[in-house]
Amino acid sequence: MTASPTIRFVESSRPTEGSVVLFVDDTRALGAIGQALDEEAGGLLTRAMDLAKFKGKRLKTMELLAPAHLPYDRIVIAGLGSDTPGEAEWTSIGGAVLGALSGGGTVTVVAERPGDESIAAADAARIALGMMLRAYGFDRYKTKSDNGDKDAPGADISVAVADVSGAEAVWQALKGVGEGVILARELVNEPANVLGPVEFAEKAAALAELGVEVEILEEPDMRALGMNALLGVSQGSERPPRLVVMRWQGGAKDAQPLAVVGKGVVFDTGGISIKPAAGMEDMKGDMGGAATVVGLMHALASRKANANVVGVIGLVENMPDGKAQRPGDIVTSMQGQTIEIINTDAEGRLVLADALHYTIDRFKPRFVVDLATLTGAVIIALGHFNAGLFTNDDGLADEFSAAGIATGDAVWRLPVSAEYDKLIDSKFADMKNTGGRAAGSITAAQFLKRFVGDTPWVHLDIAGTGMGAPANEISRTFGSGFGVRLIDRVIADHYEG
Ligand code: MN
Ligand code: ZN
Repeated sequence: MTASPTIRFVESSRPTEGSVVLFVDDTRALGAIGQALDEEAGGLLTRAMDLAKFKGKRLKTMELLAPAHLPYDRIVIAGLGSDTPGEAEWTSIGGAVLGALSGGGTVTVVAERPGDESIAAADAARIALGMMLRAYGFDRYKTKSDNGDKDAPGADISVAVADVSGAEAVWQALKGVGEGVILARELVNEPANVLGPVEFAEKAAALAELGVEVEILEEPDMRALGMNALLGVSQGSERPPRLVVMRWQGGAKDAQPLAVVGKGVVFDTGGISIKPAAGMEDMKGDMGGAATVVGLMHALASRKANANVVGVIGLVENMPDGKAQRPGDIVTSMQGQTIEIINTDAEGRLVLADALHYTIDRFKPRFVVDLATLTGAVIIALGHFNAGLFTNDDGLADEFSAAGIATGDAVWRLPVSAEYDKLIDSKFADMKNTGGRAAGSITAAQFLKRFVGDTPWVHLDIAGTGMGAPANEISRTFGSGFGVRLIDRVIADHYEG
């Protein structure tokens, strides 16, 4: 993990040293402090923008060495574009700024817009979040010092803003959320030889330091509960499964909890229905849903969310060995419905079937959200820029869509209906675990739906967004931490207080 920057907020004034970041709009107009610096530099900033044909487009940056008579190392000019950035855009702008500041050092971000207008406190905090998320790298296993900036100190960043206490108040909450995103990324990036079900459960147990109550169920506990769908996936692995229950009790004592359930397949070979070799290494990320749940619990506890939230993750490894589950096997889920295994690579839904039923049965949540790197089909449908959202509740669909736009963790709703449900009827059992090639993400969602009853439910298929998503301004590694900010935001906007 690359050293993370130190970020604080200070009164708006002329920076005195180090690197200086100034913002311009698409007319290349600087704010008051920027204009003063430009004048002192004899119009150098304006001339440099001219020469470089820098147009102030959003997310574009330009770097120049500070002239000798100014007490700075360098000046970075960052474009804001033509219209007012939204929340997600401010975060991306922060990421772009950090990306332009290679190495560490002292940095002052002058949070002013053209026309002597200070950037709003909340937006300054979002810039800070973008810088924090952009700074995250995963280089723990690179031992050579010439690989990247492994040994570079984290930047020491001051954001100069008019409303310091306002920015600090927003940052206090956002920082915990950012830490949750980074924790989720760490878990996804770690290889499966390091992070098996037992080790993953230990990472979740560390949330106790933040006041999260953590319970870990082991194989005999799960057997006693009848979690045969989950255990069937695990039985081909030498490594025992775990089911972790995390509870954040930030709300009224008797308030109905919200529940978040994650698929945690620490490695997915496909089992006996083994996957092709090409790209199989990415299946270390098949626990992305569980990673997001752990990251979310961290976020909620750090910002002391005023809500009761239970997180449940099913942790297994899907391996082919002499004890492995076979196609044709029929298992009885904890809920009692029977499942014919058609393809052992459709294992995530088997883990979730028992985890969802256990969660609903025990906690009677107001709603349940599950996250899973569930189907390759969702990547065919939506690529890497939207998670597939499936739900039995239109209100939740709206809340999640709005939070997706606000945070940048975008979701797109896909249907569930009786026609699709039929496709998973089985000749020999209550259902089968695949519905064929067509509508593969939807039939996976239909399978889960059979285990949630009347509980309001959202399923997020994050196969394209939780791992292996293309790098952008705020995410540079294999694991993106997708969903932490999304669900945190839904809870903050609708279920607190
Ligand atoms: Mn699979
Ligand atoms: Zn899987």
